[in-house]
Amino acid sequence: MSISFAEHVRLSCPRCQTEFADEAYIIVDGGERPDLVARILDDTLHDLRCPACGQVGRVPAPLLFHDRRRQRVLFGVPPGMAEPEWRELGQNLLWVLIGALPEEVRLPYLGNVQAEAGLPGVAQIIRQEQLTGAGEGESEELNEEDNEELPPIVIAIQALLAADGPAELLDVLNSQPILDQPQSVTILQELAGEARKTGQAEVARGFERAAELLTQVKQMRTQAQNTAAATQPAPEAVEQLAFALLRSTTGEELAQLVDQHPELLDEPMLAALASYAAEARRQNKQRIADGLDERLAALGELQAQYHQQQPVLEAVQAYLEADSGDEIEAILLEREELTTDAADQALARLGASALADGDADFAAFIGERRAFLRQVRAALEE
Ligand SMILES: [Zn+2]
Repeated sequence: MSISFAEHVRLSCPRCQTEFADEAYIIVDGGERPDLVARILDDTLHDLRCPACGQVGRVPAPLLFHDRRRQRVLFGVPPGMAEPEWRELGQNLLWVLIGALPEEVRLPYLGNVQAEAGLPGVAQIIRQEQLTGAGEGESEELNEEDNEELPPIVIAIQALLAADGPAELLDVLNSQPILDQPQSVTILQELAGEARKTGQAEVARGFERAAELLTQVKQMRTQAQNTAAATQPAPEAVEQLAFALLRSTTGEELAQLVDQHPELLDEPMLAALASYAAEARRQNKQRIADGLDERLAALGELQAQYHQQQPVLEAVQAYLEADSGDEIEAILLEREELTTDAADQALARLGASALADGDADFAAFIGERRAFLRQVRAALEE
């Protein structure tokens, strides 16, 4: 299959009006068609001749030039074309080029396309860099560079071995499609076995290490995906909380509900409840939708408050967990937040919520600790 590619064009001669068909090369592979490279260099690649009168005219065509040996891709932008348009055109031509190349030479450099102004721009770079087809200076030394074209699996293995830490390993897995195939670990292990058989112990160790790393990073990704799925609240839980929210008509009731269901302040639950409200609205359940939206707005405010109150809540928690006079004294000295109104209110809410849960003993315990704090505050204020 040829890599260079010509577009068929139908033209009408501006001089004699003869209609004729011709072709203009828009992809040129330097190694394959040095004759076309010569036409790029003398700026005639896109010149077409009228078969009737001999008039020569130029078609405003793009040109993607590829040099596999020197790993270069140049794109000659047709004169006067707007950037978004030529970027898209260049991308499309690049796909055609990649599609025409054998799989083992589809290497990352292909993504690095250098844009130049038309044929003259491309010609200039070909001359400057003595790219394939430029004629002069095609020495043996340059031909040796063929060996530098590594197959994708080798590039992927090198990237795996070079990755530093889990995040980089995940990046490698995502950027090297060849690693994502289900059989990739087996292939690496087989390569290790082959290398060992032929006495290449060092190479075998490299393949083995790559196989281990690939196994680890694939497991890591599966776990991450499972965790993401687990944080999605179950539909029944969302529905239950939606109705619990609708029953909470005062701010106090809402705060109590949040104490019982702290997940109400988590982003996944808030998002799920918002979708639930939107769905209710689509089904013309206007009261449910409006009611929920109103509670969600209040929850948003509560969330902000809780973030602010986080240190107070932690202090209250530590205070409730203290189980000797000495410990209580130490925490009171350490946590100034405890002698604030916010701490007093937090304890009041926790007490009410314990009562609502039917835990009268815990409610009484919280009540005692709250009363003690009030005494301390009164003493401090004197
Ligand atoms: Zn003509």
